[in-house]
Amino acid sequence: MPGFESFGEAERKEVQDVLDSGILMRYGFDAMRNGHYKAKSLEEELQSTLQVKHAQLVTNGTAAVSASLAIAGVGAGDEVIVPCFTFVASFEAIMMLGAIPVLVDIDDTLTLSPEAVKKAITPKTKAIMPVHMCGSMANLDALKKICNDYNLVLAEDACQAVGGTYKGKYLGTYGDVGSLSFDFVKTITCGEGGAVLTNNPEFAKHADQFSDHGHDHVGNDRGAESHPVLGYNFRISELNAAVGLAQVRRLKDFIAIQKKNYTILREALSEIEEVTFRTVPEGGEESYAFLNFFLPNLDTARKVIASFKEKGVDACFHYYDNNWHYVRKWDHLKDIKTLYPVSKEVKEGLSYLKHKTFDQSDHFIGRNISCLIKLSWTEAEVKERAKLMVQAIKESL
Ligand SMILES: *Cc1c(COP(=O)(O)O)cnc(C)c1O
Repeated sequence: MPGFESFGEAERKEVQDVLDSGILMRYGFDAMRNGHYKAKSLEEELQSTLQVKHAQLVTNGTAAVSASLAIAGVGAGDEVIVPCFTFVASFEAIMMLGAIPVLVDIDDTLTLSPEAVKKAITPKTKAIMPVHMCGSMANLDALKKICNDYNLVLAEDACQAVGGTYKGKYLGTYGDVGSLSFDFVKTITCGEGGAVLTNNPEFAKHADQFSDHGHDHVGNDRGAESHPVLGYNFRISELNAAVGLAQVRRLKDFIAIQKKNYTILREALSEIEEVTFRTVPEGGEESYAFLNFFLPNLDTARKVIASFKEKGVDACFHYYDNNWHYVRKWDHLKDIKTLYPVSKEVKEGLSYLKHKTFDQSDHFIGRNISCLIKLSWTEAEVKERAKLMVQAIKESL
């Protein structure tokens, strides 16, 4: 996920347009902006690149997750089913709405297990949110069927998987709503930024209004616009959008480079019989942001990650022991350590976290190593890395 690797001439030019006019806000100031509407242009580029009817830019990916749920009617007291392997942002974004994140097991796709989802459904369940961790997806057809059967919203957190596809659709555009992040370490970046994606015209209208204090954006006099609903300020600035505009035009090139580097590493590791790879559901294609593989057991995975460090193989993660992405180390969630009081309903709704175990997920995450794929590697560097990885694994078995 190499947004940070590639700030160049194209980004500089787009930002310069904004600096030249001095109009840093996406709405209004029509006479002064030299025709530059970077946020609007980026939304249009996202729509055509990802083949989705509506892309709504927001300030960041966490805001995008909150907004995507809000526009689909998820709010106070509703339960949202999410995988226990995710970024903490997915959890926080649900909490911000006064809703209750219900963490469930993952399977060998490293995201939501449809069986675990089914078991977690209660009368309060409003949405299912797969998180396409490390560039690949859950069995979305199976999740969609569950959503249809129980009348639930399918919300995709595609923050880590822009450019990946499932059955010909870009990740984030398959469900009722989807969210993307353009933070500094994602595949394409705005510095900070995010987007809500939807093909539902009603949700699209909600997204436009919700992200800008409920403004209806009819006409060109902001003071005269009406406010059909209450919203928030999740507006992206023109400066951030300008960076993203240059980046989105390079998305397909970035994915191609990721795929090339990923393939070299994967082919090298495939020669080791004990190494297996994450399952990509039928009809899915990863964004190749990460290479994820399994070792035979937890001990070996720990040895391998230590050996990678010793050999200078950077940007590889063993999430089982990492504080950021897996429930095992998330005491602040289990203890509901918020700075703001949460409702009794949310407190009760989260009490399951104190005692719930995630044995199936431990089984996969404990054995998993996840390696970031960079754009800037030369072919020789990728080959050298592959050689070191193979060595480290063979020595650890
Ligand atoms: C990065 C990320 C987010 C949040 O995005 P920000 O832009 O950093 O707020 C949400 N979910 C997942 C899975 C992420 O990786």
